[in-house]
Amino acid sequence: MSKTGSISVNTENIFPIIKKFLYSDHEIFIRELVSNATDACQKLKTLSSLGEVKGETGDFKITVTLNEENKTLTISDNGIGMTEDEIEKYINQLAFSGAEEFVQKYKDKADANVIGHFGLGFYSAFMVAAQVEIQTLSYKENSVSSSWICDGSTQFTIGEGNRTERGTDIILHLAEDSLEFNSKYKISSLLTKYCKFLPVPIEFDGKIINSEKPLWLSKPGDLKDEDYTAFYQTLYPNAEAPLFWIHINVDYPFNLTGILYFPKVDSAIEAEKHKVQLYSNQVFVTDNVKEILPEFLMLLHGVIDSPDIPLNVSRSSLQSDSNVKKITTHISKKVADKLAELFKTDRADFQAKWPNIDLFVKYGILSDEKFAEKAKDYCLLESTNGAYYTMSEHLEKIKAIQTDSDSKLVVLYTNNSEEQYAYVSAANSRDYEVLKLEGPLDSHFTGYLEQHNENVQCKRVDADALDKLIKSDRSEISLLNEEESKLLLSVFESANRRSDIKFSTEALSPSEALLTITESEYDRRMREMSKMNGFNMFGNLPINYQTVLNTNHPKAKILVSENAEQAKSVAEKALNLAMLSKGLLKGEDLSHFIQSEFEKL
Ligand code: ADP
Repeated sequence: MSKTGSISVNTENIFPIIKKFLYSDHEIFIRELVSNATDACQKLKTLSSLGEVKGETGDFKITVTLNEENKTLTISDNGIGMTEDEIEKYINQLAFSGAEEFVQKYKDKADANVIGHFGLGFYSAFMVAAQVEIQTLSYKENSVSSSWICDGSTQFTIGEGNRTERGTDIILHLAEDSLEFNSKYKISSLLTKYCKFLPVPIEFDGKIINSEKPLWLSKPGDLKDEDYTAFYQTLYPNAEAPLFWIHINVDYPFNLTGILYFPKVDSAIEAEKHKVQLYSNQVFVTDNVKEILPEFLMLLHGVIDSPDIPLNVSRSSLQSDSNVKKITTHISKKVADKLAELFKTDRADFQAKWPNIDLFVKYGILSDEKFAEKAKDYCLLESTNGAYYTMSEHLEKIKAIQTDSDSKLVVLYTNNSEEQYAYVSAANSRDYEVLKLEGPLDSHFTGYLEQHNENVQCKRVDADALDKLIKSDRSEISLLNEEESKLLLSVFESANRRSDIKFSTEALSPSEALLTITESEYDRRMREMSKMNGFNMFGNLPINYQTVLNTNHPKAKILVSENAEQAKSVAEKALNLAMLSKGLLKGEDLSHFIQSEFEKL
């Protein structure tokens, strides 16, 4: 005998609201229903281990069946089952109140960006089904099977059921607007996405969906490197093997397990191709972990699993959630410690891996103070001569010869060793160290170096830096006397047609170049900054290049003894060559220069 009843509601038409608000995420119904089936099996397992179940429970299993002709999707389990009273209590009252509360909370937020939706649970079935049917038989002795049918209105029918064995079938009669789910391919891929790591075997189409083990739940001591790399392949098929990993296992004051991998990539874009996956008790929740992990940790790959991350709240409130904050801090600390350990135990290996983690560590340093506090001790700086230094090693090394006339420690760097080749080799020939800071974050990183190290100034190798450093290096003997030096200056001034290039003379060593064009580090940074901000803060900043003429260069002597016309033409050519090598010769000037050189062939 069956009877009908109505779900007690305070909200009229709850189902259309559920449907509307979760529009983009309809597919999660499958996660909810399979999780419930898993829970039903786990509960019985627990009861059985407590001796509260008569006889053997047998093997637990969940079977998902799609009948494309009838447009029905059935999720069956051989778990705990429900009695009619329990349906009343858990489905009509408890489950419903969860769903109702959810709707009350979000009905005014048209754009509520909700993740998880846990707690909506069973009723999420109505996002895709016109009618939902439960057939169930409780594990309890002398139970009779029960059924519950509801068409998405607040009316339901409850009565005798047809199940002959312990467990529950949830049968969804797919709605006309949800027939995308009437596809074996679709269901199979959704099961793989959400349920791949669930602990009870899930069969679909004769195949077990979840044969993978959730490796993060194993004890680190029981695992070999091969297990970790194989698991990485499971998560990201065809990805290159990771560099190393961190196994996270916390149970107090919050619950957090997971494995984070350092991928072998050298650009942020590449790293972001594969995302960290967030699970809650082995159920996939999302791989959009933007508000949960700090941005620099999102360059990592892997899995984090925590039932303590609130899943049914809007994204914006996640960031201010105290559990989320604690979890983030913890992960960031773990990562910093792991890197410190690798650096300490095998520096050579750490150095070999550095090009792949450079971006990550610098990103962390620039964006997370606590991380920076630890990482500053192992953040490596690569020199153009191939050596790697920590920050303090580098500063110590350059102290003796790279202190300028203002007693500033000058960190020389290149952000493009190809383009600045001539400047790099000039600096190297004086035994100066030039750092390769060629990565996308390095222009910010120089700022960090200056702010966190007293008296340090970073200067690009083609900046005016050398000027001040050279003072101490200056040659004693001058090839040109004062008058000749003035003449040299005037020859170049007369050959120069650009207002942005100014000249000065220095008696450098004869092996230095005849002339070198530089731009002040400060001016260049200001220009780059205003460009980066997308507007010209200071209007069009004037560019001023300084050109140092080496009065000790053998050619300088020849220049001042030649007739004015000839000297001017040689100076013009020398200037053009210097501009060319700095990329300053452009347009008509460049074309003219090249043309005239061709004519001389
Ligand atoms: P939650 O799972 O968060 O408790 P749900 O709305 O998903 O909320 O489910 C409500 C209740 O219905 C569950 O707590 C459980 O008691 C019962 N239930 C749902 N699905 C099953 C099932 N497959 N087998 C046994 N009981 C179930």
